[in-house]
Amino acid sequence: MLPCVPLLDGFGKRMRIAVITLFPEFFDGPLGIGVVAKAQRSGSLQIELVHLREYGVGDYRQVDDAPFGGGAGMILMAGPLTRAIEGRQDSHRILFTPAGRPLTQATLDRWAGLDSLTLVCGRYEGVDERFAEASIDEEVSLGDYVLAGGEVAALAAIEGMARLLPGVLGNPRSTEVESFRGGLLEEPQYTRPAVFHDMEVPPVLLSGDHARIAAWRAERRLKRTAARRPDLLEEPPQDHGAGRS
Ligand code: SAH
Repeated sequence: MLPCVPLLDGFGKRMRIAVITLFPEFFDGPLGIGVVAKAQRSGSLQIELVHLREYGVGDYRQVDDAPFGGGAGMILMAGPLTRAIEGRQDSHRILFTPAGRPLTQATLDRWAGLDSLTLVCGRYEGVDERFAEASIDEEVSLGDYVLAGGEVAALAAIEGMARLLPGVLGNPRSTEVESFRGGLLEEPQYTRPAVFHDMEVPPVLLSGDHARIAAWRAERRLKRTAARRPDLLEEPPQDHGAGRS
């Protein structure tokens, strides 16, 4: 019998994501493409863009100010951020910051199972710490580099989650056997033609011998991981949990 029950797991479930940002237009193109568009069309994903500027102070809708203690750049003020996120206590509230815990596949797996997420995108030199303390459940970094804003991180997370939602990918198995599942990178892959610029496809892949192919793939996953990401062999990618510190 086909394993249809696990594939139907979560069927009809809808995930709601709110994104708090100074640049809602940043999302115009990306949310209309590929798996993210498909997830929204099918009703499994609903995305709301919240414009931080609307919660700004005064005629100029000010959202940022100079840092106490001096230093370069501007800091997003706690007031506008707090008003923008107010009423979303039931949602899992995430702040993107280079000072957060690393975003991993395990993090996305966990988030994709939640009903409601709120993603907060910082800008300039970041956000007032008191906002993070009072209103954020989890601080997450996209990697060890500094971007100009959290929007790219939010898009990365949204796309990574959309492909995990039930019914979004044509073949649900493709999320089960890919890089980081089982703590390994994916093996090299090939498609037609069998010879390209004098380079041949590894002959085993043309052999039709499924057991040998599976063994070859397992070996190449291990070799590639050892060469490129030996750290994964020592410690598989973790979900660093939902705490702030
Ligand atoms: N002064 C900060 C960097 C601010 S960058 C520092 O040194 O840590 C401005 C905003 O971009 C941040 O508030 C954050 O929301 C976003 N950002 C930059 N790099 C990021 C990263 N690696 N992961 C997640 N968000 C990031």
